[in-house]
Amino acid sequence: MELRRDPITQSWVMQEDEEVIESQYGVCPLCPGQESLSPQAVYVHPYGQPTWQVRVIPHLRPLYRIEGDAQRRAQGIYDRMRNVGAHEIVVEHPDHHLPLSQQSDENIAQVIRAYVSRVVDLKKDRRFRYITVFRNQGATAGQDLEHPHSQITATPFVPRRVGYEIRSSEQHFRLKERCLICDVVGQEEVEQARTVEVNELFLAFCPFASRVPYETWILPRQHHWSFEEDLSSWDRQLRFGRFLKSILQRLESVTPTYHLVLHTSPNVHAKSERVDQWKSLAEDYHWHFEVLPVIPSRYKSYSLKEVYYNSLCPEVAAEALRRGGVGT
Ligand SMILES: [Zn+2]
Ligand SMILES: [Zn+2]
Ligand SMILES: [Zn+2]
Repeated sequence: MELRRDPITQSWVMQEDEEVIESQYGVCPLCPGQESLSPQAVYVHPYGQPTWQVRVIPHLRPLYRIEGDAQRRAQGIYDRMRNVGAHEIVVEHPDHHLPLSQQSDENIAQVIRAYVSRVVDLKKDRRFRYITVFRNQGATAGQDLEHPHSQITATPFVPRRVGYEIRSSEQHFRLKERCLICDVVGQEEVEQARTVEVNELFLAFCPFASRVPYETWILPRQHHWSFEEDLSSWDRQLRFGRFLKSILQRLESVTPTYHLVLHTSPNVHAKSERVDQWKSLAEDYHWHFEVLPVIPSRYKSYSLKEVYYNSLCPEVAAEALRRGGVGT
């Protein structure tokens, strides 16, 4: 496997060069008692106890390899590099049948704490420019193992969409000396039409130009560029966990299937040729989670030549989500 860059769009594509053989397990490799099926855990809570609550392990079929360096090389106008990086699984609970949205507030906060701890740790590695935390729920969203889990990847490049966000945030800041997402938060709080839920710390809303029905962003109302710094305390982890749980329950009232992805600041300590690259990043970038539901049948969404078509307008989606969720 190697990474190839599309010279037109600048996005990196993972290229498989050998046939993938699916390994089969007779039992769930993430369930308690099956720990010997997976590599040595990189994070366990509680630590040193006979039973665990949250566990992070290297992925059983990793997309990225931890050894060596990227070996960036050119082939004419094309760029390629090794798939160096990390790929981990966050096992969210010992119970095989307990989805994240049904877990206790404390357990969800422990999952958030595991994310924070792994992002901090992986950012110490200067080969990695970006750490992604994501969660696919449901087979049509690409969930491969049934056991409730999230995934973390560390990559030698910044993913394309995050790159776009960083560039437009920087442009906005240069013109207005304000954070773009803070401005969006301000506007959403005035209009309220797309608000799903808001409390003193966090806001969830359906973005103005939602790509798919019920697309929802979850973010801190106070500016912060870095997820792992902003949510470093147990109190913040608990409050965010509670908020996330409520949003997931609302979304699950319309669809059980979704992608959730964290967008946070890249690794500013990574090795790079460009020194002044992240000059205003702390002021202009604003971390957030994006949830992209996968809706079967009725609401068709598709992208035509990269133009998204969404049949449900975000104002209607937000209203449905405000009604749905807790207690329904
Ligand atoms: Zn299991
Ligand atoms: Zn901001
Ligand atoms: Zn984003």
